[in-house]
Amino acid sequence: MLSVVPTPLTVRAPAKVNLHLGVGDVRPDGFHELVTVFQALSLHDDVTLTPADELSLHVTGEGVRDVPTDPTNLAARAVVALAERYDRDPAMRIDIVKGIPVAGGMAGGSADAAAALLGAATLWGLEVTRDDLDEVAATLGSDVPFSLHGHTALGTGRGERLIPALARGEFHWTLALAREGLSTPAVYRELDRLREAGAPPRAGSPDELLAAVASGDPHRLAPLLANDLQAAALSLQPGLRRTLRAGMEAGALAGIVSGSGPTCAFLCASADDAVDVGTELAGAGVCRTVRVASGPVPGATVVP
Ligand code: ATP
Repeated sequence: MLSVVPTPLTVRAPAKVNLHLGVGDVRPDGFHELVTVFQALSLHDDVTLTPADELSLHVTGEGVRDVPTDPTNLAARAVVALAERYDRDPAMRIDIVKGIPVAGGMAGGSADAAAALLGAATLWGLEVTRDDLDEVAATLGSDVPFSLHGHTALGTGRGERLIPALARGEFHWTLALAREGLSTPAVYRELDRLREAGAPPRAGSPDELLAAVASGDPHRLAPLLANDLQAAALSLQPGLRRTLRAGMEAGALAGIVSGSGPTCAFLCASADDAVDVGTELAGAGVCRTVRVASGPVPGATVVP
């Protein structure tokens, strides 16, 4: 008999930005070897699980037309993977409220998977450790373990092997959301093509950046932000150059494509500056919409 808590349970999971994303060579399994520094931001998806007779999925909020509501949705895949591993019945209603831009390079799908994993484990009263959840998370996607953990972390392997990083204080970000998404595999293919054609510069070691994050000084962090996928994202969406330029002209300390893009993330000196940069970006017409966020924040968390 299942020990199911008969009440809806909501788990909130954060978006991420990669402060450093060093992309190595392609591995025999087709994935690229990564060295990355993630930071979780105060932009969330909420995933609510309700026991039901069958597994169903309902999505509302930001960019829903591009989110699958069939079993390919990462939240549904997470529930099914956990159910198979711990011999449970995955029947439940999953409601996702998207606040994280879809296909925006901010790990929205991974956040939903992490939230669904934590939610289902809680609903079923599973006695699992974080390591157990991490193992299932890594089978669902490279960013899912980080979405569980949140805060700031160094990721290696495909990004799924995490070491927590010390971060002092709060960093303030303005996010410029693009009109069209970018497919992560397409961006990696474009990087491979650019690397065959020439030698775009590669991000070096993240050591200095990690020290800057630990210092809590955004001025020190700004010049160290690095993303090897940025050249590929700009090649596929050249208009992002204008967005990056506009953010700098508006007073951001630094601007970078977030992960595989096309969201552009601007590091600002203060919360007020982030709002000012957002207002200018919105007025400049260089993006679909803007959001202001801060980080680091915790990973997937049950909402009381
Ligand atoms: P990442 O930064 O992890 O590479 P992303 O943030 O660029 O990913 P997502 O928002 O995760 O992109 O969406 C990528 C694709 O995944 C979407 O186009 C969609 O088809 C699919 N997808 C599956 N499940 C979800 C979900 N729960 N939310 C959003 N997209 C999902």
